[in-house]
Amino acid sequence: MSEPKREDPPNILDILRKKRNGAELAREEIEHLVRAYTDGEIPDHQVAAWLMAAHVRGLSRAETAYLTTAMLHSGERLDLSFLGVRRVDKHSTGGVGDKTSLVLAPLVAAGGLAVPMISGRGLGHTGGTLDKLEAIPGFRVNLSTAEFKRVVEQCGCAMIGQTAEIAPADRKLYQLRHFTSTIDSPPLICASIMSKKLAEDINALVLDVKTGLGAFMKSEEEAVALSELMVDTAQRTGVRAVALVTDMDQPLGRKIGNALEVEEVLDVLRGGGPSDLVELTMTLAAWMFHLGGRSATVEEGERVARELIASGAALERFRKMVELQSGDAGVVDDPRRMARARFATDIGARASGYVDAMECELIGVASVFVGGGREQESDAVDPAVGIVVHKKTGDAVQEGEALCTVLYNSEEKMERARALLERSFHVQAERPGERHAIVRRTIRSV
Ligand code: URA
Repeated sequence: MSEPKREDPPNILDILRKKRNGAELAREEIEHLVRAYTDGEIPDHQVAAWLMAAHVRGLSRAETAYLTTAMLHSGERLDLSFLGVRRVDKHSTGGVGDKTSLVLAPLVAAGGLAVPMISGRGLGHTGGTLDKLEAIPGFRVNLSTAEFKRVVEQCGCAMIGQTAEIAPADRKLYQLRHFTSTIDSPPLICASIMSKKLAEDINALVLDVKTGLGAFMKSEEEAVALSELMVDTAQRTGVRAVALVTDMDQPLGRKIGNALEVEEVLDVLRGGGPSDLVELTMTLAAWMFHLGGRSATVEEGERVARELIASGAALERFRKMVELQSGDAGVVDDPRRMARARFATDIGARASGYVDAMECELIGVASVFVGGGREQESDAVDPAVGIVVHKKTGDAVQEGEALCTVLYNSEEKMERARALLERSFHVQAERPGERHAIVRRTIRSV
């Protein structure tokens, strides 16, 4: 066999053999793989083999960064430099009751930074930002790129779904990962998430990496490893980043379900809301302000965030974003304008004692079963339904007292949710010990 000439494109069989043997691929090899696959020049079966080799052998940090940038360049990268202000965003790896994005975008925009947020829908047992926003009647998440830019220009933030032009390689690869059981690979997850975030033309990114019973990464070690990889990838691509590894052993806040979560977002924007949700949201906002250059320290960033809530500026920014994205802004003053479930039922405690632990993933699945999420991709989401959690870990409870209330529209769906919720709260006689802080670890680049 003759030696390849310098200008020859990398050969797919060489790339497969190298990764199969655990060798490190060069930038050109990864770029070729991604470009040729996106353009349909390499068939699924060869890329499926590569994905499996990458899953088993792993990718180095350099390879992960090459993959991320190759996937980013497979599509459109927004140019938001015309805004004349720094752009920041936040990404969460997904949790139950996690609605911080809906507070953060208008809050950080009210503080003078731009937040061009491209979000996703519910995945598995976790909720999705787009499904929550669509609980607001009329709210459009599918803006064109031109509309998206206009909304960010007019109010400092906009929240939309991924467009067809952004990272098309990710869409193809993600589907193939689904069919080859290669979703749960940290470098592949990192490249998938970061390629889409980098397309937003941001200067800084705050990552909320969930860990615990309701997270995709159950162990703190896994969450820390993914955090380090994502922060390193951001640094290699010129974006300032921090990752907060945060607790998902129980739902965040008290409300799970789309309209219910918007209601709780409005509580936070008005200066109320559950303490865990407020604490995490303020910490994430503080880092966004700090990395975006709005505050010299994280502490000052938190002061800025709390002032913007107290003055009502963040709430007014939310109202403006809803108007600009064609939503019913009357919801801001009257959340009952959103769809409401017809029925409610309590899940009572079987014994008196203290809530010792919660099966957070089961609670998320119960919310999906009752209609708040999708069991199949084609399922319609019911914005009205969900769960209000009355008791969280450490709370005292009396026998028969409500642990949570389910809001529902279908008796049959409710019964499936009930079966899970009755197993989701562990009550014991003794008061449990101290809980984890909500932010378990903070990982920055060096
Ligand atoms: N979310 C993504 O966008 N990609 C992944 O691979 C996993 C979660």
